[in-house]
Amino acid sequence: MVGGVTGDTERTSTGPGTGVAAATAGVTFQSNTAEDGEDAVAPAVEIRNVSLWYGANQALGNVTLDIPRNRVTALIGPSGCGKSTLLRCINRMNELIDGVRIEGDVFIDGENIYGPEVDPPDVRRIVGMVFQRPNPFPKSIYDNVAFGARINGYKGDMDGLVEESLRRAALWDEVKDDLRKSGLALSGGQQQRLCIARAIAVNPEIVLMDEPCSALDPIATQRIEDLMQDLASDYTIVVVTHNMQQAARVSHRTAFMLAGDDLVGRLVEFDDTNQIFLNPNDERTEQYITGRFG
Ligand code: ADP
Repeated sequence: MVGGVTGDTERTSTGPGTGVAAATAGVTFQSNTAEDGEDAVAPAVEIRNVSLWYGANQALGNVTLDIPRNRVTALIGPSGCGKSTLLRCINRMNELIDGVRIEGDVFIDGENIYGPEVDPPDVRRIVGMVFQRPNPFPKSIYDNVAFGARINGYKGDMDGLVEESLRRAALWDEVKDDLRKSGLALSGGQQQRLCIARAIAVNPEIVLMDEPCSALDPIATQRIEDLMQDLASDYTIVVVTHNMQQAARVSHRTAFMLAGDDLVGRLVEFDDTNQIFLNPNDERTEQYITGRFG
């Protein structure tokens, strides 16, 4: 594990009333990760020249970016610019969709997950995913969390694993006396934390989150945001969000994507989150985060 989120310093946007600063006024940013030595560490995920087509329609054009280990990376951009598609390239989930063609490479810990010898389910064991709508199985809380471990033939202390995963997902105290209750009987926010517990119970390295708070109320959203930051000490988190305040609050790095007139999604800018929100390099990033389009 890479040193550090505990050593992070936080910054608050208190800048003058420029358009950019005003868009994130009062937001507390995560640290500028370059300060705590992250740049010296190999990235968890290296996306290299990835292009993707749904049938004849190209959705991603030549995306290259490095996702830092044990950090939260946010993917932002207008609807349809390819954020979810790019996220699904990291666990080879797009290949479950008929007619998808992918070019380029994605390396996890230096291994090309699109290599000929790699089995997609193996990739999905080290890359967990949490979806927009909480999707617990119609099973007990316990069985939801134990599900993946059982499939993987886990022979250890299952009770301990379930408890530890629920604790890690900040749900244990609320459900410890009701582990046999259906996961579907929980509130939306609890269900999403249950899905996070289920994802981390198989000990992934990377957790992908596709707009994990969009179906939740503000209090449940805040709990998930807190959890994301907390989980980053153990996992590499990549989150798609259409909520820019959320990206500013939870992420260390932000990738801004945009689809051109050709509808092909491309990476416009990728940088430390405070840089993207306070001093973006590309005019289109500034226009987007100040709400001038999208
Ligand atoms: P975002 O997450 O930024 O909203 P998506 O990755 O969902 O964008 O979509 C990018 C483009 O790919 C859009 O034009 C969308 O219509 C298209 N697309 C996404 N999923 C599919 C699919 N399963 N089949 C065909 N086209 C798709």
